Amino acid sequence: MEPGSGRLPGRLVVFGGTMHELSIMQSVLDQVLEKARQAGASRVHAIRLRIGVLSGVVPDALQFAFEALADGTPAQGAQLLIEDVPARFWCATCRHEFEATRMFAECPDCHRPSMELRAGREMELTSLEVD
Ligand SMILES: [Zn+2]
Repeated sequence: MEPGSGRLPGRLVVFGGTMHELSIMQSVLDQVLEKARQAGASRVHAIRLRIGVLSGVVPDALQFAFEALADGTPAQGAQLLIEDVPARFWCATCRHEFEATRMFAECPDCHRPSMELRAGREMELTSLEVD
């Protein structure tokens, strides 16, 4: 291979949090390839994920990890479609849920802190487009 052609092997190391995203992406990709195989598909075109804002996953890092790991698999070149899931907390005093972007959040009505997180840490595969 000539210098300057192909992928840059050093690209991933400049990214903070990459090891975390790499291991997450590897398990997502394993699921994707397994489902594609079960469906008898030879190509994966799109992968949809739901990622909670408090999951600690950086979508850009996930995209880099995906491109590196999917290389040479039926998922190579697939679009990664990421849906952000807002964090939702439950206020036991007001008996309602509210959205927040932080790990510890205050109810907008009574201003008491809530520790009861109901959504926002998920990281799940929702659908695939294959053929
Ligand atoms: Zn409240």
